[in-house]
Amino acid sequence: MKHFKHMQASSADEAANEAKAGTAWVMAGGTDLLGTLKDEIFPEYPETVIDLKTIDGLDSIAEEGDTLRIGALAKLADVAESDLVKTHAAALAQAAGRVASPTIRHMGTLGGNVCQMHRCWYFRVPDDRFHCRRKGGATCPARIGDNRYHSIFGDDNGCFASSSHDTAPALVALEATVVTTKREVPAGEFFGAHGHRSNVLEDGEVVKEFRVPKVAKSAFQKFALRKSIDFPVVNCAVAQTSDGATRVVLGGVHPAPWRSKEAEEAVAGGVSADTAQAAGEAAVSVAKPLGKNAYKVDIARTLVKRTLMDIAG
Ligand SMILES: Cc1cc2nc3c(=O)[nH]c(=O)nc-3n(C[C@H](O)[C@H](O)[C@H](O)COP(=O)(O)OP(=O)(O)OC[C@H]3O[C@@H](n4cnc5c(N)ncnc54)[C@H](O)[C@@H]3O)c2cc1C
Repeated sequence: MKHFKHMQASSADEAANEAKAGTAWVMAGGTDLLGTLKDEIFPEYPETVIDLKTIDGLDSIAEEGDTLRIGALAKLADVAESDLVKTHAAALAQAAGRVASPTIRHMGTLGGNVCQMHRCWYFRVPDDRFHCRRKGGATCPARIGDNRYHSIFGDDNGCFASSSHDTAPALVALEATVVTTKREVPAGEFFGAHGHRSNVLEDGEVVKEFRVPKVAKSAFQKFALRKSIDFPVVNCAVAQTSDGATRVVLGGVHPAPWRSKEAEEAVAGGVSADTAQAAGEAAVSVAKPLGKNAYKVDIARTLVKRTLMDIAG
């Protein structure tokens, strides 16, 4: 691991200002970032790592009228156990509670979970051995390589990685807003394959909080190979918004969380066993699996149906 300077930030704006040049990267719990630095997966390495954990007040979970305000430094364990989140944004509490292990949930933050980089094994291979699309290369090795965990809904900027953050589909389904030091971005427009990032953040932009509209009904389900500690193969979040519409969002199936308008149309008249089954079929009707990941289509179909059944009735 190369040496880097360590700076403790006292405010989000100070961290953002320091990170402007692109040679200083921010760190929250460090459970994702430190692994990428140790493995030296990037062609370039930060000169400085800015610790956000020293910023006061960015870890609160509070309500303001019809909205929950959750600080970017809120620990995943606290999000999972918060009565406010469990009552008004159940899908988010369930998703946070399914991330990794208790240890990582006590270190890892909501901001870090949302901003984590993709888990694609070509992108993450130590010493930058695959100079993939995300690092400025010409092609995505997963397109014809070992793509068993990759996208089943096509590419994003030529990248076929799949999103690996459990809380992201929940935030999109709940129509949350990501508040940064520069702007407010709807969660549905925040994610994707943008350079080494999995989101639209620019150098010198730090996430401060998430604003989550309260909903009466929402749910999350995850399929992973191991129950104890594992990234999602596919996950799914659904939410019924105040206008009665149902949002259906899959993760692990595309570089960004995949909102399925097809599934949403299938349950537009209400969620029942029949419409949930139809929504699962509709969701995967537009899938384009790669050579080794057609099995994920079956998992996505079933997960959509099961997650919708959690809010039926
Ligand atoms: C063994 C293992 C298992 C895991 N399993 C899962 C899993 O099942 N599901 C899952 O979703 N994740 C999983 N993770 C990934 C990760 O640890 C968690 O997502 C965790 O929530 C990351 O949070 P953090 O605060 O530690 O982020 P950090 O490691 O501190 O940061 C992650 C990234 O986000 C950026 N960042 C952090 N905070 C901000 C901010 N406020 N503004 C802008 N950028 C920011 C950092 O620069 C970095 O690029 C796993 C990790 C490990 C090591």
